[in-house]
Order: sequence, then C-alpha cells, then structure tokens
Amino acid sequence: MTLADDFPRRVHVRAPGKINIAFDVGDVQPDGYHDVASVYQAVSLFEDVWASTADEYAITVTGDLDISGVPLDEANLALRAARLVAEHVRWDAGIQLHVHKGVPVAGGMGGGSADAAAALLAVNELLDGRLTTAELQELGATLGADVPFAVLGGTAIGTGRGDELAPALVRGRFDWVLVTNPDGLSTPAVYRELDRLRAVPDIAPEHGVPQVDPAVLQALRAGDAVALAGALRNDLQEAALSLRPELGDVLAAGRRAGALAGIVSGSGPTIALLAADVDAADALADALEAAGHTALVAHGPVPGARALMH
Ligand code: ATP
Repeated sequence: MTLADDFPRRVHVRAPGKINIAFDVGDVQPDGYHDVASVYQAVSLFEDVWASTADEYAITVTGDLDISGVPLDEANLALRAARLVAEHVRWDAGIQLHVHKGVPVAGGMGGGSADAAAALLAVNELLDGRLTTAELQELGATLGADVPFAVLGGTAIGTGRGDELAPALVRGRFDWVLVTNPDGLSTPAVYRELDRLRAVPDIAPEHGVPQVDPAVLQALRAGDAVALAGALRNDLQEAALSLRPELGDVLAAGRRAGALAGIVSGSGPTIALLAADVDAADALADALEAAGHTALVAHGPVPGARALMH
C-alpha cells in the first residue's frame, strides 16, 4: 500500500467482555473440538485498543487488573488481528497497538477475544480497509470462537463452535457481580477435564446436538432476572469445579450474600452472580469484598466493538 506517514492517525476502539448465560456443550467432534450452543451477553467490563501506523508491529498493554498473563509477542490476539486486516489490505509497514484491559485475563470472559475484535475494527478504520462487519467477524473467527461475538455485542445465541451468531431479544438490563480469581484457567484444560468426566458413562451419557434452553430466551425477553436465575446453566461448570473445587465456595458465598444465582463464566475461573437490580449488585459486591473476594459490578447487554471519537 503506502508509507506509514500517509496515515498518521490513531484510532480508538472499545470492546466488551462477555459472560455465558447458558452453555450447552455437545460431544467432542472428530477434530477434537466441541459443538456448543451458547447464550452470550456482553457486559460492561471493557477493553480499549488504540491503533496507529508504525514501521513494525508492536504492542503495549496496561490494565485495571493483573495483566501479567498477557503475551506481548505474536501470540497476542490483538496483534494477530491487526496483522490479518493489514495483510488483507496489503499494508506493507507495521501497526502499533496499545491495549488497556478491563476484563480479567484468562478469566473465561473473553478478554483476549475482545482485544482481537477491537483491533480488527481499529486497523480496518485506520487503514481505510472498508471491510464489512461480517467480513471482520469472519476474519475474527479464524483467531477464536469468541471473537465474532465481541464484534457483535448485545446478547446472542452462538452455535457451531460458538461463532455462528443470532442476536437474542432482551428487555431492560441485567446486573451482574463478577468475582475474579488471580489464577486463570486454561480453556483447553477445562474442555479436557469435561471430556475426562464424560468418559465415565454413569456420570454423563451421550450429549447429542447442543441446544439452548427456551426458558433462558423467555427470561431474557421478559427482562425477568428471577426467571433467568432459575435457568442459568454452564456445562463447563462441573469441569471447572473439578479442577478448582474452591470455586464452589465462591458460588456458595455469592448465594449467601444475596445473589439470585451464580454460575462459572465460560471456562472460568470468574464467577458470575446475578443480582435483582443495580442496588442489589452493589450490596452483593460490597459483601463479597468484605469477605476478601475481588468483586466487580457490571451490567449487560452492552454494545459490541465500536470506535470512539476523540
Ligand atoms: P477464552 O476466550 O479462551 O475463554 P479467557 O476469556 O479465559 O479466554 P483471555 O484473557 O481471553 O481468557 O486469554 C486467555 C489466554 O490467551 C491468556 O492466558 C493469554 O495467554 C492468551 N492471550 C492472547 N492474547 C491475549 C490478549 N490480548 N489478552 C489476554 N490474553 C491473551
């Protein structure tokens, strides 16, 4: 394309973290992956990504929370996303990214996927790539199953590997308390544990085609937090609890402190607690903080990745 000097701007894109309100995991496929049926909700913990043109590809990272697990090399999903778009538009210089993280690292909240989504949009805008949202989601799906949802945001059903999305209807907002854990869980390790547990036929028979419980969609449409609390489900929870039994104590502490219900978020270890409203969420977070936990208040749904004007 052209010299870096021709594009001296800096583009800022914000993308949300997510929780899985429902997560139905099917049998392992011949390629080792699992088909899932998931209900994603984007929540108000955000990743901010700034992109500018440079001679090389490089990334810096800061955060509201512990960022020590974030790679700064080519393993970083934001950097890989930036390269994908830049190569697509035949940009022959580099890209400088800065990421400010608000989503717990390796917490089952899709922070890395949010970074990738934000970087896709930012570099497309920066280089005037003119890729459509659908094209960006397609590129993003090659980086990870959660990336297309971070582009879309809101609340959506994800099937296939979680990347075939259909928006879900939601009335009002839901208030969550997210209890973070300093020791991340590896998503592949949690799936491996699920396969191990399911290999015992008495515990879990065939799972077949994963499906979303209609009760979840009904509760979302009605804006009914109590009904949603009764319908929360995550098939990865048992595996996450098997690897980290202490997460069961956090779920119990959440219920004791007034949560309507609690669930492991994605592959964990973050615990998502549903509160009746924002005041209940604040009180719940205070009680958990007083008991020594780290608890973040968030609400959903919020929009997907979008550019912020300065
Ligand atoms: P998943 O989306 O697989 O559920 P997660 O939400 O549990 O992941 P992430 O914070 O997205 O957790 O990252 C998981 C791992 O991905 C990290 O441990 C890290 O090694 C790697 N990673 C790559 N790029 C990033 C990034 N930009 N931010 C955070 N982690 C990243």
